[in-house]
Amino acid sequence: MANDSLRRLAVEFKNFLAAQDEDEFISAAAPSRAAAVASGAPKEPLPRMPEGETLTVEFPRAQQAAAAVQPEPVSVTDVSASGNVMNTAQKTAALAELAETIKNCTRCPLGSTRIHAVPGEGNVDAELMFVGEGPGYDEDRQGRPFVGRAGQLLDKMIAAMGLSREQVFIANIAKCHPMTDPLHPEKHGNDRAPNAGEIACCRKYIEQQIAIVCPKYVVALGGVSAKALIADAKSLGALRGKFYDLHLDSVTLPRPVQIIATFHPAALLRNPGWKKDAWIDLQMVMAKLGLKAPHK
Ligand code: SF4
Repeated sequence: MANDSLRRLAVEFKNFLAAQDEDEFISAAAPSRAAAVASGAPKEPLPRMPEGETLTVEFPRAQQAAAAVQPEPVSVTDVSASGNVMNTAQKTAALAELAETIKNCTRCPLGSTRIHAVPGEGNVDAELMFVGEGPGYDEDRQGRPFVGRAGQLLDKMIAAMGLSREQVFIANIAKCHPMTDPLHPEKHGNDRAPNAGEIACCRKYIEQQIAIVCPKYVVALGGVSAKALIADAKSLGALRGKFYDLHLDSVTLPRPVQIIATFHPAALLRNPGWKKDAWIDLQMVMAKLGLKAPHK
């Protein structure tokens, strides 16, 4: 007797749950039913749960947790499609939301070996953006781009252009540390460039950052970044020395952006003789932006 009552109560509870969300389900899943309801036509009763059948209830918190495993990047398509560059507040909010998405991202294997994701940082209204290939040892530990020895050289390159780090935006193609030996993340000299699959997974993020900041010029630092963004299989040597119109795969830029390629600061540390060529590239950008080198 007690079991019968419990069974009846359980069935009534299931039917109650089904009826609670009826209107919500109607408008989402069956617009013609929703229109009939809006016009005052009598609702057809929804099929009721037969006794003995199992009902699985998806609780919102469980759905949110599942969504957090594979978050989709925020979309800037609407804003960029409108042809308007975002204002400062919109850019700040969009970049912060995107950074949160990146910090939770596990779209490629680098997400399971990183210490910190490195979304990028800088002036949201920057006219100039630098894009490297991926975080290294120091960046992985600090969650900030270009903070190791190569970053110190990049700071000097930016200063030589008459700018400060706070006036530009700095990011990478891949947001998590690619390692040659991911089993030993504590090792120095464990950096590598992101591979094609990792770049394919991650490129949406840098494209959205470029569309949000919408700088006038992007400097691709190194061959990996240059080839990914200029979408040209040529070597860095062949790509250097000219500006290209930037075309992105996943978003429409609200205004034209041009890109130029130069050496990665880490390569300049290994080959100081290339610094004069990098300086020629940076002077081309300075001429476009009307910048003058500071007096010594
Ligand atoms: S590298 Fe990019 S795609 Fe891969 S886990 Fe990190 S943020 Fe996600």
